[in-house]
Amino acid sequence: MFRSLAGRTVIVTGGSRGIGRGLVKRFAEVGANVLVVSRHLEQAETLASVLGSNVSAFAADVTNPESCHAFASTALKRYGHIDILCANAGIFPVAKLDVMTSEDFDLVLSTNLKGMFLSISAVLPAMKQQQWGRIIVTSSITGPITGYPGWSHYGASKAGQLGFIRTAAIELAPWNITINAVMPGNIHTEGLDSLGADYLAKMAASIPMKRLGSVEDVANAALFFASEEAAYITGQTLVVDGGQVLPESLMALEEMKEMF
Ligand code: NAP
Repeated sequence: MFRSLAGRTVIVTGGSRGIGRGLVKRFAEVGANVLVVSRHLEQAETLASVLGSNVSAFAADVTNPESCHAFASTALKRYGHIDILCANAGIFPVAKLDVMTSEDFDLVLSTNLKGMFLSISAVLPAMKQQQWGRIIVTSSITGPITGYPGWSHYGASKAGQLGFIRTAAIELAPWNITINAVMPGNIHTEGLDSLGADYLAKMAASIPMKRLGSVEDVANAALFFASEEAAYITGQTLVVDGGQVLPESLMALEEMKEMF
């Protein structure tokens, strides 16, 4: 039996929709106080209002250091401590190399990679002071393990996050702060919906479990990293992908079809 996270304070960046919303809901369900952070306040507030008094919203842009410090100080003012950060905010615009501009590249790296760093920097003083903290980064299989045309900048940002957490884990260990990453495969979110029904159907067909992941699948992995019981796990990753990265070829999936 896992010890309760009730009363812990969690900040979820990119918490207003998609995987972030799944994280917010799951942490709220187990009794944590949750600050939902996204650039657009209305969506975050709507979510907070349906989840109850232990969830509140704040508008911040993770590409901006002052904005990150503002969400950290708001969490401290509202809840008195910051225990868990889900550094989840991210974007995945598509641009193949022949059309990718310097601005396209900078926007993805500054949101996904630098935004993660700025979010972490903002909460560290509070976590260090209390000598306890859990940081959970939402990386991806895309970049660290796989590739997909149009997402070279995105893949670089997601692989970069894993490079970051390995050194950060060493630096933060003396303060009892762990940092780990979940690596989702294709998770059914509004963001993914925007890629179209055809993309979603083809993706589901390429996953051994024959379905896209749910935001709850990812949130459960994050909940584990946030737990008291995961105290001795840091700098590590957990792939949440229904086996998506496992088939070594299309033939491996074809073989599966013949078995059922
Ligand atoms: P999503 O549905 O598009 O949601 C993205 C969230 O991030 C929103 O809350 C958005 O709110 C927020 N956000 C974007 N830019 C921001 C910024 N500069 N500052 C603050 N908040 C910002 O995306 P998702 O699919 O849930 O993805 C969430 C994370 O999971 C990303 O890091 C993504 O790389 C990762 N991931 C997703 C999948 C997948 O299949 N969906 C797979 C692997 C990894 P605002 O627009 O209001 O700011």
